[in-house]
Amino acid sequence: TPQRPYNFSAGPAALPEEVLQQAAADMLSWQGSGMSVLEMSHRGKEFISIAEQAETDLRDILSVPANYKILFMQGGAIAENAILPMNLSEGGQTDYVVTGSWSQKSAKEARKYCQVNVAATNEADKHTRLPNFGSWQLSDDAAYVHVCSNETIHGVEMHELPDLASLGSKAPLVIDCSSHIASRPIDWSRVGVAYAGAQKNIGPAGLTLVILREDLLGRALPITPSGFDYQIVADHESMYNTPPTYAWYLAGLVFQWIKRQQEGELSGLAAIEARNIAKADLLYGYIDGSGFYENRVGADCRSRMNIPFFLKNEAHNDAFLAQAKAAGLLQLKGHKSVGGMRASIYNAMPLAGVQALVDFMKDFAQRHG
Ligand code: PMP
Repeated sequence: TPQRPYNFSAGPAALPEEVLQQAAADMLSWQGSGMSVLEMSHRGKEFISIAEQAETDLRDILSVPANYKILFMQGGAIAENAILPMNLSEGGQTDYVVTGSWSQKSAKEARKYCQVNVAATNEADKHTRLPNFGSWQLSDDAAYVHVCSNETIHGVEMHELPDLASLGSKAPLVIDCSSHIASRPIDWSRVGVAYAGAQKNIGPAGLTLVILREDLLGRALPITPSGFDYQIVADHESMYNTPPTYAWYLAGLVFQWIKRQQEGELSGLAAIEARNIAKADLLYGYIDGSGFYENRVGADCRSRMNIPFFLKNEAHNDAFLAQAKAAGLLQLKGHKSVGGMRASIYNAMPLAGVQALVDFMKDFAQRHG
C-alpha cells in the first residue's frame, strides 16, 4: 500500500498507523471472541478486560498516583467546562487563567455555576505570551484554579505547571490538557484535576478523560446530572452509564503503542517526549530562520503540539494550502480566529512527517520568495 499522507489536523487528529491496522484486524472478531468491540456488552468479561488494561496502561504511562481516579467520560472538554464547576465549585469562588480561546471558553461557561475571578489574562498580547505565575491575582478562597496547559488554537503551552502553594493559594490546580496529554509527563504534585478530550493524542472523539485526586470527589452541586457526577462515575468504574466503549478500546491500543515506543535509550512516554521536542525544534527552527514564515508565540511558551505560523506574504496562502495537499501534507489551514497556517504535530506524527513539511515549506519559499 502507498504511504498515507501526513495529516496535521488539530483534532480529530492522525492516529498511529499501527493502531489503525490493529483496529482493522480486530474489527470483525476481537481476539477470537466472534464479536467486534463495537458489539460487546460493556459489562461482559471481554470489554471489562479491555477497559481495565487501558486504565492500567494509562496509569503507568502518566505515573498517575494511587490516590487519583481515572474516569472515562463523554461530552468532550467543552462539556467539562460545565461539569467541572458543577462538581468542584460548590457554587463559590473560582480562579481562571485565560491564555487563549479554550481557557476563555472555560471561564465563560463556569460563570453559570460559580463566581469566576479571571486571575490573569494574555488578551492584550493576543494570546501569544503566558502571564508570569507571580502576576496571577489569585483569590483567597478559590475552590480551584483552572488553566489550559496547552492552547490548541494559539499554540501556547505551559512547559511548567504553577506550584499554587508557592503562589499563596490553597486551591487545587485544574488543567485542561486536551491537546498535549500523553505528550510529556504531568507533575501530579501540582495538579488536582486533569481533563482531556481524546481526539488529539489518545484516540477517537467521544471519550473524555478526567483524572482527579480522590479528596476532590463528593462535592457536586445537587443539580449535577448523575452521569456527570464524578463521585457517581468513580463509584461505578466509569460504567454508571454505557461508556464510549469503542473509543475506550482504541485509546487502549494507543496506550500500548506509547509503551512500545523507543528513542535511543528512552522508552514509552520519555521516548515520545524526546521525539516531540525534536519535531518541534525542527519546525520552529526552520520557521524562525526562513525569512518567509513566522510564528508569533513567545519563545518560552511555544507549544510542541500546535504550531501556528504565517506566510509573511499572505497572498500566497491559498497556493500554499493547495500545493501542500498535493504534496501529501493535509489539514494545515490555521484556525479561522487566528488565520494563517497551523501544523498540529501530536504523538502520532513522526519526525519524517515534520521533515516532509519543512522540505515542502523550503521549496515553496524558494519558488515564491
Ligand atoms: N480544550 C482544548 C484545549 C481543546 O483543544 C478543545 C478542542 N479542540 C476543547 C477544549 C474542546 O473540546 P471538545 O470539542 O472535544 O469538547
